[in-house]
Parts: sequence; C-alpha cells; structure tokens
Amino acid sequence: MTNRLLVLLFALFAVACTPPPPPFAHDDAPAPAAPAPEPTEYPSVPVVATPPAPAPLPAIRVFVDPRIGEYDAVVEAVEAWRVATAGVRDWVYVESYELADVWLLEVGPYARVCPGAPEDTAAWGCVQQIGGLWESQPEPLRVFLISGNYEAGAKLTAMHELGHLLGLTHADGGFMTGNMPIAAALADWECPDAEPLDRLQTKLGITGLTACAAPIEME
Ligand SMILES: [Zn+2]
Repeated sequence: MTNRLLVLLFALFAVACTPPPPPFAHDDAPAPAAPAPEPTEYPSVPVVATPPAPAPLPAIRVFVDPRIGEYDAVVEAVEAWRVATAGVRDWVYVESYELADVWLLEVGPYARVCPGAPEDTAAWGCVQQIGGLWESQPEPLRVFLISGNYEAGAKLTAMHELGHLLGLTHADGGFMTGNMPIAAALADWECPDAEPLDRLQTKLGITGLTACAAPIEME
C-alpha cells in the first residue's frame, strides 16, 4: 500500500517536473549569432541634425503679350514686382501663354471680359480673379488691359492688376486703391508701396518684400 502510494507520488512528481515543450518548436536552423558591435567613437560635441532648407519658390512665369501697345511700360510693371519680391521670389519671362503663370494681354473696351462689370467700359484693366498667382495654377491667370483706357497709366495699371492676382484688393490701399485719383494714376510708381505690401505679406504668410515710396500722397 505504501509502495503504491510512493510510486503514484513519484509519477505525479515526474509529470509535474517534465519541462514543457518549447512554444515555437520548428525545424529551422538557429539564427547565426549577431556580430559583435564595432566600437564607436562618439564626438565630444553633440551633433544636432540640421532641418532641410525649404525648397526655393519657383520663379513666377510671365507672358507679356507682344501685341500690347504699351509693351515696355507693362514690362516695367513686372520689373517693379521683381523689385518688391527680390530675395523672396523671382520672375521670368516666357515665350507663350501656355508656359506662363500669368498672361498680360490687351483687349478692347467692349470685350466685356471682366466679371462683375460687363457694362463698365471705363476700367483701365481687370483680372479674372483675386489671388492665386503665388500658388501654382493649371492655366495662366490673365491680366486684361483695356485699350483706349490704360495707356496713360500703363505701368501702374499692370502693377495694380498683378497685385490683384497676388491677392490684394482695393481695401489694401496705396497703389491698389480703386478709382484712383487721376494725379495718382498718372504718377511715376517705381514699385509697389509699403502699406499694400505689408498686407500682402500677411495674406501670403511671407516676409522680406521690399517697398518703394509712393510718388504721391494717398488718402
Ligand atoms: Zn483694381
């Protein structure tokens, strides 16, 4: 009786002591041991990763239509914007509107291309929309110069309309003033003046634009 009990206890003990099978037993060869790590020399000064510089903005591509009567003055308007965005963004001329971000062209006073004022033939120029030129566009944005009207202030008109395409409105003042007094419209604007450029920086979230003095006191 005692011997049977001992055998039973031994059997229970032996079962309890049997090691469990490995949980992931398989037939693969064991992985080779990893090589010992090479000794590393650490610099005495911590190395700080430099964040990558932001990609420079591509130049704004301009097509000044060669049929524009006041061609040179319109080019001067583009050059005025080049002064304003110097060090921030460049402007380049392209040979056709298909390649352009902005296309300046001249239309007759009755072309009625300007939305919102189809009967207004007194405008010197207009644009197809406010803003968008700072971003890439699938098609060129257009500046319309109204022949018979814009010629006396061709540079200011083109500069003003480019300001609209960059996002400025008449509420931004200075060279963007709507219904500008004739003396101001005929004055020699070297480049965009400070107040609207400050507002443009806020609108676009940029800094570094350069302004010129307004040639005449604006209200
Ligand atoms: Zn305007």
